[in-house]
Amino acid sequence: MSSEVTNHSPNFNDLGLAEPILRAINDAGYTTPTPIQAQSIPHVLAGSDLMGAAQTGTGKTAAFVLPIIQKILRHASSSASPARHPIRALVLTPTRELAVQVAENAASYSKHTDLRAAVVYGGVDMKEQVATLRGCVEILIATPGRLLDHIGSKVANLSQVEILVLDEADRMLDMGFLPDLQRIIDLIPAQRQTLLFSATFS
Ligand code: AMP
Repeated sequence: MSSEVTNHSPNFNDLGLAEPILRAINDAGYTTPTPIQAQSIPHVLAGSDLMGAAQTGTGKTAAFVLPIIQKILRHASSSASPARHPIRALVLTPTRELAVQVAENAASYSKHTDLRAAVVYGGVDMKEQVATLRGCVEILIATPGRLLDHIGSKVANLSQVEILVLDEADRMLDMGFLPDLQRIIDLIPAQRQTLLFSATFS
């Protein structure tokens, strides 16, 4: 039995991820996808919307960040021009701590590509975030209120977002972010892929 299970264990090489991503996974020391990664990655790569029930600690961040990098890799550009680096993937999180964690993952898994990732959150000065956003990034991780501030000052533009992730969606709703989420979603093209992760579904 155990050898049969081992033979059928998913492997990162079987998931269809590009070489620079596999290299970053190898650098991180991961050998086998976690269950949520094995389940989510093929769906995301196929372009499906997804609702995932997952807590932090299950490997859920890589479950969406890895296939997102793969999907937007065709847009990677070594050009210095900000116009060549519009936001293609947006990850919304309820807290600064989670946003920073997701951004660290995104930077690590995309390090062998020309894609750029950045994080913006409230409670700190906007100046440094404005400078980063003006340089433009393909993957933006944000808490909702601060993202709306940047959109209001025309520093962030969501018109080319292809993939939206709502991470810890239940907590975002508990924290009263629904009006902010609605405003943000209204600014993203309807032709998008939406991934929603939540510890609970009600
Ligand atoms: P997360 O649930 O995304 O917060 O991830 C929890 C921890 O698991 C993080 O420290 C990740 O670096 C680690 N991790 C994610 N995927 C894997 C994997 N396939 N193998 C080993 N560790 C992993």
